[in-house]
Amino acid sequence: MVTTPDYWPGTGWTRIATKEAIDLSEIDEATDSHQYWAPLDPSTEAHRCIKGYIDHCILAKPAQSSLREITRMNRAGDLTRDPKSTPLIRAAAERRLREGQDGGPQPPRSQPITIRSIRVVRNLPLWQWYSKTRDGLLAAFPRDGNALRAGFASHVTWSAPHRTDSACALANLPEIDRNIGECLLFHGTTEEKMGYIVVGGFRPDLGIDTNNFDNMSGVIRITKPHAYGFSGQATYFSDSFGKTMTYGACPKCLDYECGCRREDGRQHSRYAILARVLLGRIDHKFMARHLLDQKKYRRTAFHDKPEHHSVYTKGYDVTSWYNMFQTGCWTNEFAVKRSQFMYPEFIIEYVPGRDDQGPTLPALVRQAITKYRQRRHFNQSKQTKDALRTLEAAVERGDLTRLLNLVHWYLGKRPAKPEGATDKLKPDSSFYKDLNAAIETSPYRG
Ligand SMILES: [Zn+2]
Repeated sequence: MVTTPDYWPGTGWTRIATKEAIDLSEIDEATDSHQYWAPLDPSTEAHRCIKGYIDHCILAKPAQSSLREITRMNRAGDLTRDPKSTPLIRAAAERRLREGQDGGPQPPRSQPITIRSIRVVRNLPLWQWYSKTRDGLLAAFPRDGNALRAGFASHVTWSAPHRTDSACALANLPEIDRNIGECLLFHGTTEEKMGYIVVGGFRPDLGIDTNNFDNMSGVIRITKPHAYGFSGQATYFSDSFGKTMTYGACPKCLDYECGCRREDGRQHSRYAILARVLLGRIDHKFMARHLLDQKKYRRTAFHDKPEHHSVYTKGYDVTSWYNMFQTGCWTNEFAVKRSQFMYPEFIIEYVPGRDDQGPTLPALVRQAITKYRQRRHFNQSKQTKDALRTLEAAVERGDLTRLLNLVHWYLGKRPAKPEGATDKLKPDSSFYKDLNAAIETSPYRG
């Protein structure tokens, strides 16, 4: 009989494959696939600990991705050329290619989020495999001073540890058991890819080259075979939710910061996995040597260093370094080499900012234009005339992110001029006031 954490829910489970609701006491133990998930009740200690930790991470270590990061730029380039890209995706990708340039967007950055749900994954075959590995490590690292030195405790500096006085096993995230390096770490992913991971586990052995593999879209670009991520062939994790967030793309336009909404006026969900990870014996890599090590590590398959279970790269403090080099934040990175050292325990479904419901952006812009046109204007300025024409065309075109950028530009909330924009509105003009009033209390206020 396998032991599962006591904070896993007793009820509310559905089969991952079929979405069928299940009562755990009624399944056939011997033949069942034992792959379920259930939402964690927001009133539980476990939920409180995880939410508290994520909120703390975002506040304590805000993150901004590197300017024109190569993976992001390659991916945007691919999307502009992919015949399967919708016009919305293509427009967003073209905009992304101008990142940091005139009229282009800024690199993705972290911001507070709203958690829509935290789901617990109950995949017993995977959990059993993981538990067996953990028991092996516990036996190999007896809890005395010597073992600690060789093992885990002296190595890792967490980017945003969160101590609480809860009695829950998740009270001191990201740590669960310091002696064997058992912790909960973030892995950003898409809904589709997450679906494979919760069923089959993390699969570093598949040897997907992280240099060519795009986490968000699942696009594989075979440009440099056998060159893995910075720490070799492995699955990569972060202890910074902010950093993970900068890789989370909108499923609609596949960009990072956008104005997309569902039919009901709400944002599309984004996903991150909060995985249980055994760091075990850590190969400690210093960021100062990072660039020198790249070539060596990138070609290191996971079986080359059997004495190590994971690679840890210590990050610099974001706040003091990233402005200096404009390279974004260098945060802790964890590369884990074997499937049985990782368990996809929690699925975080979230939206950036507030999970609010309201009129869509085109509706708000239309409302402002209608309100303006209902009055007589004897001295309509050229700026107003041009802005009206440009906004009406943008509403018609349906590219919400472009529309959002235009609105922000016309209201002087955005320093860089979007492509095709005309001159800014004067703050004392009546159309400025109508437009500002329409979006002022909306999620689009900027
Ligand atoms: Zn979008």
